[in-house]
Amino acid sequence: MYPLCMIATSQVSDRLRDFGSTVFAEMTAMAVRHEAINLSQGFPDFDGPAAMLEALGRAAGDGLNQYAPLSGVPELRQGAAKWFQEFGGIEVDPVDWVTATCGCTEAIAATMLGLLNPGDGLVVFQPCYDSYQATASMAGARLIPVTLSPDERGEFVFEGASLREAFAASPRAILLNTPHNPTGKVFTRAELELIAELCVEHDTIAITDEVYDHLVYEGEHIRLAGLPGMAERTITLGSIGKLFSATGWKVGWAVASPPLTEAVRSAHQFLTFCANAPAQFAAAKALLEHLDTTEQLRMNLRKNRDLLCDALERAGLKVYRPASGYFVMCDHTRVSARLGLDGDAAFCGHLVKEIGVAALPPSSFYIDRSLGKRFVRFGFCKKHSTIEAAVERLAAL
Ligand code: GLN
Repeated sequence: MYPLCMIATSQVSDRLRDFGSTVFAEMTAMAVRHEAINLSQGFPDFDGPAAMLEALGRAAGDGLNQYAPLSGVPELRQGAAKWFQEFGGIEVDPVDWVTATCGCTEAIAATMLGLLNPGDGLVVFQPCYDSYQATASMAGARLIPVTLSPDERGEFVFEGASLREAFAASPRAILLNTPHNPTGKVFTRAELELIAELCVEHDTIAITDEVYDHLVYEGEHIRLAGLPGMAERTITLGSIGKLFSATGWKVGWAVASPPLTEAVRSAHQFLTFCANAPAQFAAAKALLEHLDTTEQLRMNLRKNRDLLCDALERAGLKVYRPASGYFVMCDHTRVSARLGLDGDAAFCGHLVKEIGVAALPPSSFYIDRSLGKRFVRFGFCKKHSTIEAAVERLAAL
């Protein structure tokens, strides 16, 4: 017998009550229940480099199973510094500049909790990965959204005036994600230069989530930290999950100047103390010896992108073909209207139950939820055969 529950009302704190349960857990559970092909939560259905997987077993067998140093094992920090230097980053000292975290999601949380005081302004582009909003709420930060909307060429852009207005509120920090989830936008040099200029002018710190940096299909990934005046005021985040297709390993990192690193570590030490030790050793091997394998991954996913986007267009969706990353955003309103459905959740419910494909309703990626209702996000970070199977099912739409 389970004990009777005497507490009948929700016990969730005010900080988190509005967020409910994350859309990723919900959609993946629905995909399993309906035996649908899961293109909702962004995780690969294939493995990263074999040498990295073997190194994990070896690390565990060699007794590297106790706490890692709080800031991360030296090899991982070296590897992350090497990764950071790619795409126009700068040379940094791994000892003072790099902190290993439990995936990028913890890096985001540690950064916000370590850096922001209650009431501090935080500029974010919406749509954004849902943990940004929840973590900002935990830190007591005040979100200042700037909206990315498709222009006539189908590219997601923001208005310079909106960004200037956001900075006029004297934000403590801006949180930027480039390449961007869920739109696949790669922020251009001109856009990054404007952000950098405003950061310097308003003495604002930049937090950049760059976990999709190796997956650019068109354009060029540029690190904000590499722009003039930004090295000292930028915290750059990355992870092994996306770089080497091992999202379950939960190994990520934050690269930042020593005063910002102190802020990140001040929270990280009490959140998790350290990231998974054997996985850090194995991830380090991949970073130091196998960064070249990401090129093959990029080519495979680009092929998937094209196959899936073509099928979604045939199904009648307005497709915003992404320049990078794992995901494609579409406008479903034409198809929804035909089917008598209203909103992203209803459309995704139909897809998962009737078509056998799970996609993500992205309104929880918007601070102003209503802006996301017309969109749907599909992931193509899968084996080619998985995308082929999904394409076959989508023909029924
Ligand atoms: N970042 C991934 C996505 O957007 C998944 C993150 C998660 O499951 N929490 O799909």
